[in-house]
Amino acid sequence: MPPRHRQRRHRKPPPSGAPTVVTPVPLTLSKPGPSIDALGFCSLESNVPGLSQLILQKLNMKSYEEYKLVIDGGTPVSGFGFRCPQEMFQKMEDTFRFCAHCRALPSALSDSKVLRHCKRCRNVYYCGPECQRSDWPAHRRVCQELCLVAVDRLMEWLLVTGDFVLPSGPWPQQAEVVQGWDTWFSLRRLQLDATMDAVLGSHAMTTLWASVGRPRPDPDVLQGSLKRLLTDVLSRPLTLGFGLQALGINVKKTGGSTVHVVGASHVETFLTHPGDYDELGHMFPGHLGLRIIMVGVDVAAGFSESTSTSPLEPGTVQLSGHRGLYHNFWEEQVETGQTAHPDLAVAFHPGFHASPDLMEAWLPTLLLLRDYEIPTLITVYSQQELAASLQILVDLDTHLIAYGANPFASLKPEQVYSNPNKQPVYCSAYYIMFLGSSCQLDKRQLEEKVDGRV
Ligand SMILES: [Zn+2]
Ligand SMILES: [Zn+2]
Repeated sequence: MPPRHRQRRHRKPPPSGAPTVVTPVPLTLSKPGPSIDALGFCSLESNVPGLSQLILQKLNMKSYEEYKLVIDGGTPVSGFGFRCPQEMFQKMEDTFRFCAHCRALPSALSDSKVLRHCKRCRNVYYCGPECQRSDWPAHRRVCQELCLVAVDRLMEWLLVTGDFVLPSGPWPQQAEVVQGWDTWFSLRRLQLDATMDAVLGSHAMTTLWASVGRPRPDPDVLQGSLKRLLTDVLSRPLTLGFGLQALGINVKKTGGSTVHVVGASHVETFLTHPGDYDELGHMFPGHLGLRIIMVGVDVAAGFSESTSTSPLEPGTVQLSGHRGLYHNFWEEQVETGQTAHPDLAVAFHPGFHASPDLMEAWLPTLLLLRDYEIPTLITVYSQQELAASLQILVDLDTHLIAYGANPFASLKPEQVYSNPNKQPVYCSAYYIMFLGSSCQLDKRQLEEKVDGRV
């Protein structure tokens, strides 16, 4: 999958008649977490039998391995891609076509029956009025929120094509004033108004709605969507900034400060434009360089591998990636002095609470961060995940500094793909910060006692 700037060549509509291969992976499918990831892709089957095959078929892919290859930046085997935007949007929408109540796929229906979407949200499908009626008590709780999801997943395309560009330039006010999205929006208001007007009046917007086969929503609906998309892109960089601030990390360190994004997946790297992190730099005027290193087994191929220790230019933000497990990276790169020691470690949605397998994979990293006393921030999707993750960190004797609702959580709702009536979640909705071990004092006291006895 090419990075965003290379996709801009598809920005102009193709000359009529010429077949064009448009960027093939629907964004919804490129997102892990509550929608799909390496583990989740196959678990789609348990909710909607046959759904994972339907998705692959619609994407002209043969296997999950091929899908993963594309997500990782590889070239798919054959017949992959779509002839025109209409086809792409149609196929994207087709991957949502299953009865939200009885889970029937189109192939299971008799010829006279078709799946019809809910008229309000246009997001869930039903095989008939009986299923829709029976489903309403469950669906009514999420219908309004899913209506936003259905708009956002189309509008997101403008970010991919580069037609929707983030605001840039220094902040007119000090970062301390910016406590969350409300203050950020008022700070960037003039620029945002201009950006919104330009995007709403753009040719790309017209083409988008002409291609998707549904009426173009009102300007305020589209503006709301653009705002949610902005918060989604900027949630990660600004959450890093929030962590640097809250943990009191010195960003005026000579040579620059370093943040390791631990367990980074393709979602942190795929479609991530280095410019997305400029906003983090603006949060700290006068900083002496910020080095962000994404480390994880799913870091997208082709993501800048430069992880040098050479001093940064003051005021620059350097973004790079390293493919591999964090504890190996630590041994090979950090301990050998090839990569800068982290001033802050951040893990977005590590998910170690979710299964014993994930916990086993995370344990060496969590212990390492604890024992080397690296200031650490993790984010989770929901209050339940917050409670479960906190319990694990308490059991590991980490010294918890703070936790709560993240002021820079994404405001874009994420639908649970194979279970659309489940309450949508928000990326990085909650955070936890820890530093070192809660037993340190006890241990020292113990050692003193032991020494005293000897
Ligand atoms: Zn049904
Ligand atoms: Zn609905």
